[in-house]
Order: sequence, then structure tokens, then C-alpha cells
Amino acid sequence: MNKDGAERRGLMLILSSPSGAGKTTLTKMLLQKKELDLTLSISDTTRKRRSSEADGIHYNFIPDPAEFTRRREAGDYLEYAEVHGNFYGTPRGPVEAILAQGRDVLFDIDYQGARQVREKMPRDVVTIFILPPSMRELRARLERRAEDSLETIVKRLENARHEIGRWADYDFVLINDDIQKTFDDLLAIVRSERLRRPRVAAGVEEFVSGLLAEQT
Ligand code: 5GP
Repeated sequence: MNKDGAERRGLMLILSSPSGAGKTTLTKMLLQKKELDLTLSISDTTRKRRSSEADGIHYNFIPDPAEFTRRREAGDYLEYAEVHGNFYGTPRGPVEAILAQGRDVLFDIDYQGARQVREKMPRDVVTIFILPPSMRELRARLERRAEDSLETIVKRLENARHEIGRWADYDFVLINDDIQKTFDDLLAIVRSERLRRPRVAAGVEEFVSGLLAEQT
């Protein structure tokens, strides 16, 4: 048990990819698998809400950039970054509360955020990069979404090239050419990372003392 009474340390599972590579779908699939008990970290953003999005569910939308700056300066963010001209930040409080219960948090953040979280909490972080099967498919997915203007799509494609270049910073890299296969790989990663010795050491220590105290 740790000091908060949890069996193991919570895991910070970071999923990054250029937009359109399937990360949102995969995040949804992970959250729907109830037995995994993953909690999604909901970011603050100054980006405008898309029609399919709800405040407090997909993001906490903060229309006033000055409010974002105020929160950042108050140290409210575990990490923050500017992406496609908007600000995004991970509120620190909810993440710390979930980890203290020994539960795992899922983050949909970019490579800049992944780097900051890894620097702050290296023992707890597992990073996964999702690659699209091709640039053509990435563009098609962005166009199908049809929620962004052509200008935004072009900007996102340009940015995707830059983001894809960061794949080697990550612990795991998955090529998403088959969503079910990618999901199965994600499950395998979560399950094995949960079993790593440093994460279960507290519980195992107690078990081992019992084992060794057993009369044979
Ligand atoms: P979108 O505007 O399409 O929802 O997200 C754009 C990018 O911002 C995505 O790559 C997403 O992972 C990233 N992002 C979302 N929230 C955060 C955050 O809190 N911090 C960082 N660093 N990136 C974020």
C-alpha cells in the first residue's frame, strides 16, 4: 500500500498523434472498456468549441486567453503548450487526486506536453505515439470530419508533418492501419505497464513478507 492506501502507483498514459490519426477513437475505446478504469484528463483550451464538443467533457473551453494565462501563472497546469495557434493546458488538481488513489490517467496531449510531464513525473509516465497509415489517409480523415475550414485542414496537415517527426521521443509507436489491432496493442501496453515492478512494489513487499513468514 502507498501512503494513500492504494495498492499501486497510478499510471500516466500519454497518447499523442497528429489530428486525424485515430487517437480520439482509440481514447474512446479505452474509456469504454470499464474494467480498465481509466480516467481521461480534461484539458483547458482557448480553442473555439466545435459543434460536436461539449464544455467540461471534451475540454474546458476558456474563451479568454487572459484567464488561461492567469491559471498558468498560478501554477494550475501540470503542462501547457501552444498548438495550432491555441493554448492547451492540463489542470494539475484532478490528475493528482486520481493518481493518489492508485488509479490511471489517460492524456490526449501533444509532444510538447508529453515532454513536460515526463520531466516532472518520470516514474509514472508511459508515452505512446499513434502514426497514420499514410498522409493521404490522414488528409481524408481530416476532410471527413468536415468540422474544420480548408485553411485549418491545411494548417493541421503541415503541423502533422512536424509532429510525426517526434515519434522517436515516445516509449511506444503504433501504426494505426487497423483500429482493432491498434486497440489490442494499446491494451497489451496498459496491462504490462501496470505490472512493472516499481508500480506494484508496495503491494508485493507485503505479499513477500507473508510468503517468507509461511511455515514450510
Ligand atoms: P484539437 O484542437 O484537435 O482537439 O487538439 C489539437 C492538439 O492539441 C492534439 O494533438 C491534442 O493532443 C493536443 N492537446 C490537447 N489538449 C492538450 C493539453 O492539455 N496539452 C497539450 N500539450 N496538448 C494538448
